[in-house]
Amino acid sequence: MEIYKGESKLHGVGLFALKNIKKGKIVLVVKGERIKFLIDSDDQAKTAELNWFGFSKNTWIGVSNNLCDFINHSCNPNVGVKGQVTLVAIRDIKKDEEITLDYSLNEADIFWNMKCNCGEKNCRKIIKSIQFISKEKYKKYKKYIPQYFKNVFLNFNILNFKNIEELKIKWVDFLKSNF
Ligand SMILES: [Zn+2]
Repeated sequence: MEIYKGESKLHGVGLFALKNIKKGKIVLVVKGERIKFLIDSDDQAKTAELNWFGFSKNTWIGVSNNLCDFINHSCNPNVGVKGQVTLVAIRDIKKDEEITLDYSLNEADIFWNMKCNCGEKNCRKIIKSIQFISKEKYKKYKKYIPQYFKNVFLNFNILNFKNIEELKIKWVDFLKSNF
């Protein structure tokens, strides 16, 4: 393992590189039980755990008790998802640099949001699911977005709807179909 847990400047405990990691190298493989869950309202979103890792439609991976639980979000991340569960370096990472992921790139729960204070120039301040990221962000990280979440972005981007209410209705219909 090329990573270790340590005190983070971003939030609580974070993961750090034990040595220099080259772009493209595998940093961590996410493990845990699959959780099937329907999030169709603000109330339901609150009952979901904060440390779930987005996997596919209505499905997350529960990562409590494993290293993935400690990956902090950054609006300028240095790892991304390859396939569905493999985290790879999206640029060279220096020894002792914190490992960070952009949580929006594999989260589709439109009822979720989180404050961010990562300090990056491009910090979005309020982090939401992939339906709300910009086209520029999507293009930049496309290689590191799991296929399901790419489809969600393409079909349910907020820009495709009159307003958030319309998006919510269409999105919940989709979630409930074949649940
Ligand atoms: Zn940020």
